[in-house]
Amino acid sequence: MSSVAYSSPALTYYGGYHTTAGHEQHNAAVAAAHPDLVKLYDIGDSWKKTQGQGGHDIQALCITKLTPGDCALNSTGKKPKFVLHAQIHAREIVTGEIAYRWIDLLVSSYGADPEITALLDSRELWVVPIANPDGVDVVASNPARPLLQRKNVDDSAGECLSGYAGVDLNRNSSFHWDPDEGGPCTEMYPGAKAGSEPETVAIQGLLATIFPDTKGAVDEPAAPFTSGVFLTLHSYGNDILAPWGYTRTAAPDRAALVALGNKMSAFTGYPVFTGDGGIGYLTPGSTTDWLYGTRGVPSYTFEIGPRTGGCAGFLPPYPCVSSTFWPLLKPALVYAARAAAAPYRQLP
Ligand SMILES: [Zn+2]
Repeated sequence: MSSVAYSSPALTYYGGYHTTAGHEQHNAAVAAAHPDLVKLYDIGDSWKKTQGQGGHDIQALCITKLTPGDCALNSTGKKPKFVLHAQIHAREIVTGEIAYRWIDLLVSSYGADPEITALLDSRELWVVPIANPDGVDVVASNPARPLLQRKNVDDSAGECLSGYAGVDLNRNSSFHWDPDEGGPCTEMYPGAKAGSEPETVAIQGLLATIFPDTKGAVDEPAAPFTSGVFLTLHSYGNDILAPWGYTRTAAPDRAALVALGNKMSAFTGYPVFTGDGGIGYLTPGSTTDWLYGTRGVPSYTFEIGPRTGGCAGFLPPYPCVSSTFWPLLKPALVYAARAAAAPYRQLP
């Protein structure tokens, strides 16, 4: 894939981070090179695209050793599903790179690495590398010093003095959405109503299509036979957040959710927090609460990166991806994918 001749628009910025166009080129190249392993889907439009202002399709890849019925847009496939979701907050630039490397690891290791080969033979490995493509365009528009756009770029509620209008896509889900209190220019503006944004509709549409509903009422646990694991990558703080995020009441599967979180934490060293313990803030309208709350799938937020040091914050130098973040995340992702077969039971 590295032999592809690159042309404008720029495919990287800030020392090597991939732009939205870079991810799109990569997704297309991977799908073309590995038709036996990859299905590439357009799962919906970004806000700008819905407005006829350019914008992007939101892309999802399903990676597996394809056999009939695999990676279909339904919930009846035979292989358990692991979903990796990244860069919903555009300025959290490490996250898309982790997704990029995960894609490359999977397609390049099939038939060569026994563990990855076994994963592709037995799991559907879904990846949404850029959940907020319009936002990433803003971030990458200043390649030497990326802009700190967090939200999508929906400015229909008005312009902002900060220059960063938009809706926080991780507060916009259809599950326990809370109305705005601070106004549309706050960094966590949740939108005019639950699920108002096309990016939210796209990801909820995909996940509701591929995962069956194994969960009853909000205070009832998921069925023990639930399969699947969902990880959404954020920055920063070096922690793992498990449901609930919207309330200080414990989730019905809290013990099992924390137990699986701790297994992944063994690789990253990130402590696991839930809304009812330790984290100090609530996240109503998050992607993870929505998926766990509506489908019962164990869903985690990884806050990648330290608060201090040379690889801290939203904009670590690009070499930090290879030196620090990928070595921590790679084994955690492999573990999560293995766990997707029976996530409420413990793997060794
Ligand atoms: Zn974030």
